[in-house]
Amino acid sequence: MATCVYINGKIYTEREQATVSVFDHGFLYGDGVFEGIRVYEGNIFKCQEHIDRLYESAKTIYLDIQMEREEMISIMVDTVRKSGLRNAYIRLIVSRGVGDLGLDYRLCKKPTVVIIVDKITLYPPERYEKGLKVITTATRRNKPDSLNCQIKSCNYLNNILAKIEVIRAGADEGIMLNNSGYVTEATADNIFIIKNNILITPPSYFGILVGITRQTVLDIAPEQGLKVETAGLLVHDIYNSDECFLTGSAAELIPVVECDGRSIGKGCAGPVFKGLLQRFRELTKTVGVQV
Ligand code: PMP
Repeated sequence: MATCVYINGKIYTEREQATVSVFDHGFLYGDGVFEGIRVYEGNIFKCQEHIDRLYESAKTIYLDIQMEREEMISIMVDTVRKSGLRNAYIRLIVSRGVGDLGLDYRLCKKPTVVIIVDKITLYPPERYEKGLKVITTATRRNKPDSLNCQIKSCNYLNNILAKIEVIRAGADEGIMLNNSGYVTEATADNIFIIKNNILITPPSYFGILVGITRQTVLDIAPEQGLKVETAGLLVHDIYNSDECFLTGSAAELIPVVECDGRSIGKGCAGPVFKGLLQRFRELTKTVGVQV
């Protein structure tokens, strides 16, 4: 049971041997797309949704993956099987491939497909009760008309710059605003608030990655008696929310209890959050593709 890496047709079980060329445009220019996917008790959670998002990101950057979605899923299943891990994190990367130096996409004839299956480091369980302290970052989220955040691209510098601010400030996470000052998302997670039993999250066109965990929460919220809205949020709305939480494949749902020094709600995980997390965790073992 160990790390397993698929690279263009071969599977490696030694990390040191799982390497790609320095002439890969993914390395040279961040020219590629990726997905982060979870495996729960042998279930690849929301597998099809992740594959669809990958292919949509690739289409927008004019990258032909040269492989059908079904084949990609079957290779992913195989790689997870070979790892022997029942609970894992999958990092699926498709880069433009190896080519001479230069921005011309035609220099790369074949995309590089990498599937890393590994263990995952999670937030410790008490964080799901005690929550995170966040700050708003000075780094604004990429403008969608420059680099659309809906493309899950291999260039994460925008998010990394925000994360550097978070770390330097001693906070747990950062909320990124768009150029109009509206809340977009955290550095690698989407954001939700609850106000008067209404669940609110920013819409895609505000400049966010449209998270698969975010969509799952939007789907289960009505079952929990919540009204759902996608609407513009200002930091004022975060400070004065009843509850606030982040969502992402790695973090799942995690509460935010403080933002810029303002305590949110009761300062710990709220009841609506707890209900949503419980339902979410039930789904993780059933919705997806079984290995
Ligand atoms: N926003 C960003 C910028 C992300 O990188 C991610 C993924 N880590 C998310 C949101 C959450 O997306 P998902 O729920 O699909 O993991």
